[in-house]
Amino acid sequence: MSPGTLLLANSAVVGCALVRDAWSPGVRVPDDGGQLTSQRVRRRGVLLGAASLAAAACGRAAARVAPDTAPTLIRGPARVSAPVAPVSGGHHGAANPAGRPVPVPPMTSAPPAQMTGRATVPVLCWHQLRSWVPTDSAYSRSALICPPARFREQLDALAAAGVTTIGPGDYLAHLRTGIPLPPRPVLLSFDDSQVSQITEGLPQLQQRQLTATFFVMTVVLGKPGWMSPRDLRRLRDAGMTVAAHTWDHHRADRYTGADWSVQLDQPRELLERLLRTPVEHFAYPYGAWSTADFPHLRHAGYSTAFQLSDRGVDRAEPLLTLRRLLVSSSWTGPQLLAAVAAARRPPPPAG
Ligand SMILES: [Zn+2]
Repeated sequence: MSPGTLLLANSAVVGCALVRDAWSPGVRVPDDGGQLTSQRVRRRGVLLGAASLAAAACGRAAARVAPDTAPTLIRGPARVSAPVAPVSGGHHGAANPAGRPVPVPPMTSAPPAQMTGRATVPVLCWHQLRSWVPTDSAYSRSALICPPARFREQLDALAAAGVTTIGPGDYLAHLRTGIPLPPRPVLLSFDDSQVSQITEGLPQLQQRQLTATFFVMTVVLGKPGWMSPRDLRRLRDAGMTVAAHTWDHHRADRYTGADWSVQLDQPRELLERLLRTPVEHFAYPYGAWSTADFPHLRHAGYSTAFQLSDRGVDRAEPLLTLRRLLVSSSWTGPQLLAAVAAARRPPPPAG
């Protein structure tokens, strides 16, 4: 999501808005939503007000996040699947003809400059997929809310252009090792966990045999208008990638103290517990990042982190500053393809 914007405009939560620097003591936090307790939430005070207020306003019934009963996480040392050349419709790794996992050596990473030179895969980002309502701002209509007919037109254009969707694991393998990607690779992504991405987005992707990555903020899971843990498993089972987008969408360039754990560690742990699969990809809320984030992202176990395309990549940490392009709902199919073509150029270094 871009800087300075409000998060919520979902039709299911019309009237809700993330009001920063506000605190709503009545909010209920999912019991295992990053393993937060109400006391820990209160200690963080206003820093956690934004999405908490959203949750209070948008989900007073506050469905609890249902934990899995038998959390058996499948985790490898760094990556559990081979960095195979991906194909459309699947990117989750290797198996031999008999269906057994193929052991692979750990990946070695290229120097940062070489990875930066390889960072030419367009990464597209949508938010809500719904019709506009009168209270939607002009900015939200353009950047955050894509009407279903336009979204379908955009996907049709991508499919007709012969793109191949890849996942962040494929992109990571390519950046680290140079392993080839399929022709015309793109990475499609969705932010913020709105349920319209399940009801509208997922079927449209599947109809076109496209895959995508869903960056989830865990505070809203299970609340009306937002994804549920079951939705996350549905995405996983459909060959999509579920990735992290913090607990409550606070800017990652302002974290201090417990924020690192609450926003980076605990959401990943929760998603892995719900999905029983590694979660190693992250997107910065509002695209905002700081170099101070990098050691904490590494410590939390993230291999990639995605910003937006208004900044260059960090010279030393290209994997943690991969760029994404906000898709405008004003773009026709040809306009989207033009933006995709422009995004295939190597990124500049961050200034
Ligand atoms: Zn976001």
